[in-house]
Amino acid sequence: MLSLKAQSMTPSMTLGISTKVKEMKAQGIEITNLSIGEPDFYTPKNAKTAAEIAIKNNKTKYDAAAGLLELRKALSKKLLAENNLMYSPEEIVVSNGGKHAITNTLIALVDPGQEVIIPKPYWVSYPEMVKLTGGVPVLVDTKKENNFKITKDELKAAITDKTKAIFITNPSNPTGAVYTKEELTEIVDVCVENKIYILADELYERICYLDEFTSVASISDAAKEYTVTINGFSKSAAMTGWRLGYTATTKELAKAISGIQGHLVSHPCTIAQWAAVEVLNSCEGDMQKMVAAYRARRDEAVALFEEIPGLSLVQPDGAFYLFVDMSSIKDKLHYSDSFSMEVCNKLLEDHQLAVVPGVAFGNDDFIRISYAADINDIKAGIEKIKNFVSGFNL
Ligand code: GLU
Repeated sequence: MLSLKAQSMTPSMTLGISTKVKEMKAQGIEITNLSIGEPDFYTPKNAKTAAEIAIKNNKTKYDAAAGLLELRKALSKKLLAENNLMYSPEEIVVSNGGKHAITNTLIALVDPGQEVIIPKPYWVSYPEMVKLTGGVPVLVDTKKENNFKITKDELKAAITDKTKAIFITNPSNPTGAVYTKEELTEIVDVCVENKIYILADELYERICYLDEFTSVASISDAAKEYTVTINGFSKSAAMTGWRLGYTATTKELAKAISGIQGHLVSHPCTIAQWAAVEVLNSCEGDMQKMVAAYRARRDEAVALFEEIPGLSLVQPDGAFYLFVDMSSIKDKLHYSDSFSMEVCNKLLEDHQLAVVPGVAFGNDDFIRISYAADINDIKAGIEKIKNFVSGFNL
């Protein structure tokens, strides 16, 4: 009965684990939850008030498929001021979260059988999104020594005459690695030369601990021509449940994305969009406070991990994840299918700690830890990992 597409799809492991943890908590089981990447902060007050006002003023009707003009104007200003990117409101489409922004883009760009390069480790949903929209995911290995950032040579080796696009996640979910301008420039050059579109997933752009963050599209006019800048409010403004993402790209592509969106969902919730306008107008301070808290937690978590023998991390310069190499216990643990699943099952069942297995992101030697959580939970979680690992006498 099910379509081939539905049969070939694996449900989201990040959402699956988070749902399981909620169920366990509801049964009274105490769990330290460092699994899902969801800010533990609340949406800024002004944004919530703006949503209430929108409801009171009956701003509850259909609006433009591309999103509220007021929001696209505010995003246009933000992109110029913060990312050195000149996009007009006609080049911006607001969607129901980053996932939807990506899916719209894939529908607009990729024909059946065309290939989309996905550097490993990848964010859990990319391969499934590509398959669901008719493309072929091409998973490309990257090196731990390079913090799992794809190099121009790795990219070149993966290109075929069917390659249409590549995902560049910066800062990375799951690793937290951040590309430098020089690294991006090398990738962009290869993409432009081969007419490959860059899906620049910059959802964590604000959560970057380096002095400089470079948006792919800002590298050159040619880069901008081939890039779809993808961003959203979930992580930067703690608005996961409001479901607001956006794309900024060429007018032609934006028109196609907006047309597709118009048929699929009309547009994102109008009330949520009014809240987002307010985020851009008056919530800068709230967002900066969150980033400062993530940075302090990152520093503390990294220091604690350094004390655990046998484990190593990818350098986390952004986002709010630690990608931990567990391979030193690989030959000491019995597992049938996936090593990282077994590690995570043991952590959950024996230590009441929820984290995400690396296999969800294409690297089975690793686990992902989210530090978008209370510092006491982070400390308790790392202590549990320490206890778990100490049983193997490394
Ligand atoms: N993006 C977050 C994560 O990776 C939220 C869950 C999801 O959307 O998959 O945990």
